[in-house]
Amino acid sequence: MEQAMRNFFLFLSKNKPMTKLAKKYGLRFGAGRFVAGSSILQAVEVIRELNSQNLVVTIDYLGEFVDNEREANEMALECVEAIRAIGREKLDSQLSLKMTSMGLDISEEVVMKNMRMILEEATKQNVFVTIDMEDYSRCGKTIDIFTRLKSEYDNIGTVIQAYLYRTEKDIDDLNAYSPNLRLVKGAYKESPEVAFPEKKDVDENFKKIIKTHLLNGNYTAIATHDDEMIEYTKRLVEEYKIPRDQFEFQMLFGIRVERQHELVKEGYKMRVYVPYGTDWYGYFMRRLAERPANVAFVLKGVMKK
Ligand code: FAD
Repeated sequence: MEQAMRNFFLFLSKNKPMTKLAKKYGLRFGAGRFVAGSSILQAVEVIRELNSQNLVVTIDYLGEFVDNEREANEMALECVEAIRAIGREKLDSQLSLKMTSMGLDISEEVVMKNMRMILEEATKQNVFVTIDMEDYSRCGKTIDIFTRLKSEYDNIGTVIQAYLYRTEKDIDDLNAYSPNLRLVKGAYKESPEVAFPEKKDVDENFKKIIKTHLLNGNYTAIATHDDEMIEYTKRLVEEYKIPRDQFEFQMLFGIRVERQHELVKEGYKMRVYVPYGTDWYGYFMRRLAERPANVAFVLKGVMKK
């Protein structure tokens, strides 16, 4: 039943008419629990508050699967604005973005132009930029763009998903770039031809890549709400004497907030992924897919209307 609900929400997450409607009508159905607001001004307030609680941030202007150049350019300009806001307001925040919002589905030329504009501003403001990882069909292209940009800019990282079979090899191949990587389980609906269908195999692979990347001496962001993965990382860094400035934990805004504070109290670096913007629908559906218990919030939201 849980798997069926998960598939249902992942299916809904790609619905274009719903995405358009959601943009038009603004944050609804309890999405405000996971999204920091529709404007950069609202997001800045949220980040300021999180920073005051010793939580660092990565901000994400929501948007994905953009199919025209004008929109991709607008998305890129929003990212530049977000970077400027981080600099101006002296926030402790990085930036996350998606290649499909920069024009990946349009042309490589558009993505590279937009990414270079963003990275120039990010370099000026000393802001680190992470390329989120999307579905399998875009994974190879995203890694390729990352490695090309990494040879031009230092302040860039990307994401590796434990559910993909290709991941172990990606971690090995990327080691040549000493990359700062965010490791996650993976949030998209993938076929068993490319991804582990069983959670236990995903978890096993997650542990494996956490260990490899850390022991390779690379900066590692362990992005998970799963206590088993967090405890595994704590034991590993203790055993191998990995310094605390070589890794951090990351969680999504609005999820396991108490646990975030506990990790800060224990002296770990804890980064919160803070999405904002009007294109909240796909992101929100993936959060519901991860934890169908959150559907209760949606139903309460609907009842209130
Ligand atoms: P799960 O296996 O989903 O959950 C394990 C356990 O965690 C649960 O059993 C429960 O005990 C606990 N838990 C989970 N959620 C909750 C909750 N809401 N409340 C209480 N307990 C909970 N995916 C991508 O594909 N690409 C990306 O670029 C990407 N970036 C991410 C960035 C960040 C900062 C994070 C945290 C996640 C990102 N993800 C990304 C999503 C990721 O791939 C997973 O889909 C998501 O994190 C859920 O997996 P999990 O590791 O939290 O564990």
